[in-house]
Amino acid sequence: MPRRLKGASSADTRSAILDLIRSSGRVSRIELSEKSGLTEATISKIVRTLIDGGLVVEAGFAESTGGKRPVLLELNAASRYALGVSLDYARISLVLCDLNGMALHSHSIPGSGRSKPQTVIDRVAREIGRFLDKHSVSRSDVIGIGVSGAGRQDTSGGVLRSSRHTGEWEEFAIEAALCEATDLPVILENDANCAALGEFWSGRVSTAHDFATIYMATGIGCGLVINGDVYRGASSNAGEIGHLSLDVDGPECFCGARGCLEVMATPAAIVRSAREHEQLWARLNLAEREGEDVRTSFATIATAAMTGDSDAEELVRQSAKYLATAVLGLANIFDLDRVYLAGPGFATAGPIYLEIVRDVLDRLAFMRKVHPVAVEMGETGPGAAARGAASVVLHSHLTPHHARA
Ligand SMILES: [Zn+2]
Repeated sequence: MPRRLKGASSADTRSAILDLIRSSGRVSRIELSEKSGLTEATISKIVRTLIDGGLVVEAGFAESTGGKRPVLLELNAASRYALGVSLDYARISLVLCDLNGMALHSHSIPGSGRSKPQTVIDRVAREIGRFLDKHSVSRSDVIGIGVSGAGRQDTSGGVLRSSRHTGEWEEFAIEAALCEATDLPVILENDANCAALGEFWSGRVSTAHDFATIYMATGIGCGLVINGDVYRGASSNAGEIGHLSLDVDGPECFCGARGCLEVMATPAAIVRSAREHEQLWARLNLAEREGEDVRTSFATIATAAMTGDSDAEELVRQSAKYLATAVLGLANIFDLDRVYLAGPGFATAGPIYLEIVRDVLDRLAFMRKVHPVAVEMGETGPGAAARGAASVVLHSHLTPHHARA
């Protein structure tokens, strides 16, 4: 069903048409008219302002359906840029994206570690300056900077109230500090929402699809895109799937509840279970590397699971079953028609998770007789969150109608 635009303001209509062009890839004026329910004359007028503004270009012709071949339109990808930054304890990634959300250049520097927040922000700002200069990108062509970080969000002050490791970040206004240091607009978003908007924007997902992106790094988060925008809930923290309890008598979680997905299924939980399995722990030489980053230990276990170590595979399959159970609940509550698995936690053992989550949703999703729930791999590379953060900038700047929907 096309979403009708009647009653929308002219700015909202322009923004919605731009979004239709984004999600279509290439589209004619006639198709825009059909998809939006607006007249061809209105579409022509809006398209003219988008072309004059440099956001859209004409790109060849569609097949003729009898008369003149219709002209195709697409986003003018090279006209502006968005910069994505993923702020992480171990590594900070920078990605420069075009208007389609495609990564043009990327770069990474050492993570925030235990440095003071202002020191980290100053270092990131200097690195952004060097990065733009190196690729001959003028600041005036950069729409803004999206910042992705793990943790609970406090949107009132651009703060991420996270984290067990970095208490000083709790009260630090990241958006204001980075804006001051770079003189560019900054928007902060949690990593799961970034990954979800990354899929939405660059994967050309249409607003007709309601979907979730499960984002796994060391923990598990979830970004929900409903009606073409992130579903935020009362305090911008909707989708906290990591603290869905799957066993009320299970192990205690740091949040205070028991049996959360966080303690049953995350890479950190798998590494803990592997440590209790003496033979596996010794076989993978993990004892000798005690104290290394959870992600590195998990990558070793995941590689073993994919290359025939049955004990490692059992741990990963168990984790995937818990995840599938949580995703099933989420799909039922929100009537989702798609789920993406994204983030570095799926980089190696993604096929195991994909198989199990798909199987559970195929067999058990409550709405399975009405429509299938597709499960797909999203981006799992180290730059996934940063690229998603750039998409957050594009989404908020180019299609602001979503935020007011
Ligand atoms: Zn919890």
